[in-house]
Amino acid sequence: MASSTAQLLQTEPPKPCKQHGVLKHDLFTSYRVEIDGDFVAQLVSYIENIAARRFCRRVCVFLDSLCLNDGANWRDGFLDGLHGSYVVLYVLSEESVTVMIENVKNGDWPEPPRRRLLPILVDKEGNRFSEIAGSGTLFNPVTYPDLPHVITKKNFRGTMAALFLNQAIHIVPDLAKIHDVAYDIVDLIAPLSGTSGIYLSL
Ligand SMILES: [Zn+2]
Repeated sequence: MASSTAQLLQTEPPKPCKQHGVLKHDLFTSYRVEIDGDFVAQLVSYIENIAARRFCRRVCVFLDSLCLNDGANWRDGFLDGLHGSYVVLYVLSEESVTVMIENVKNGDWPEPPRRRLLPILVDKEGNRFSEIAGSGTLFNPVTYPDLPHVITKKNFRGTMAALFLNQAIHIVPDLAKIHDVAYDIVDLIAPLSGTSGIYLSL
């Protein structure tokens, strides 16, 4: 059986996360922990605090380091969190994209999540993800391998091009500026937030 299909099969019912005690989160964070972990943890903390004040209710952001239950199967917990979330904060940095490209070249390309994506482009250089597409920039789809996904047959380069056509927030991983970025994200989700979860059209 194809691995990506097997990943979607759940053998046990989802358990509430240990941080929020919920099955469904408003936001899910997709990031590479060894590269962007500290930055994302700080960002999530700000988003939850700011959104709680703005919406007068708790907003739950799935962060694997806090939400996964001790001793539980990591992959099941991760997929429960993903499939139970309304919007995915998809954090991409130069380092994580570089790893992703190598993985794709080696045939390791997980199927993209079928969720609303809010791309967060972390840009230490200030211009690598520039919207002014030019040769050598991470924003330029030509940067990405022209390879089809083994299951979906979607083209990796085309997927990344489509991702960058979505509204994206460009940020510099400066701790002093993360607070402002969190406000921007809450502003984006505010118009469509409700009491039963956040819905965002991208
Ligand atoms: Zn949680």
